Amino acid sequence: MTAQRYDDHGRTQRLDWADPTLREWECTVLWSDPADPEAGIVLDRSAFYPGGGGQPPDHGVLLWQGVVTRIVGTRKADDLFLLTAPGDPVPPAGTAVRGALDDERRTTLMRTHSGLHVLCGTVFRAYGALVTGGNMEPGEARMDFNLPDIPPNFKQTLEDAVNAEIRADRKIVARFLPKEEALAIPDIIRTQAAAPPDTPIMRIVDIDGLDVQADGGTHVASTAQVGRVHITKVENKGRQNRRVRIRLAG
Ligand SMILES: [Zn+2]
Repeated sequence: MTAQRYDDHGRTQRLDWADPTLREWECTVLWSDPADPEAGIVLDRSAFYPGGGGQPPDHGVLLWQGVVTRIVGTRKADDLFLLTAPGDPVPPAGTAVRGALDDERRTTLMRTHSGLHVLCGTVFRAYGALVTGGNMEPGEARMDFNLPDIPPNFKQTLEDAVNAEIRADRKIVARFLPKEEALAIPDIIRTQAAAPPDTPIMRIVDIDGLDVQADGGTHVASTAQVGRVHITKVENKGRQNRRVRIRLAG
């Protein structure tokens, strides 16, 4: 038995955590079942973000022996299974393949996810409100906050504050910490009622001077890379909850 690395999922080394800018890499198929294409493909090394924390999985391709296999999703179990487009050929175990991500989708998701962190940090600093839910698609996202009372002109005030933090071009850094050290950081778990992960190592995403939280997603390197954020709507979701919808403005 070999000890599992903290950046492994099952037998797959996750390259997306080490370098979120990586878009192409060489790897080998560890497992697949060409007779059952829907079972998915396990790689030894993968930069496909598998989905989680509100960020949807990456799309992309595997290139091998002149063949293109499109990857359209993932299935997370003991291993990380990449799901192919229906009808696409499945490389058998042992095949050397070149992985490549859909750059526009991933880069837009990194900007969107990072924009949500700026929103979350700004709302927490101004109102002390915890997150109760959230979701994103490329370029669009929503986040729910426990915020019983909202001040007048909330939407515009918040949009201005978020864009000021983006223009400040704060560095965004992800790092792994031992769980005890991570949990000692104040307010590290920003989602209301969320239990800390059941792992000895936690991944922390730090927007310098604005927001630190436990997070498994992919982010841009500084807030300016998010670009302008437009707050499209603030909705009431029950007595306590306010849903804030954002869109990247370009
Ligand atoms: Zn996040």
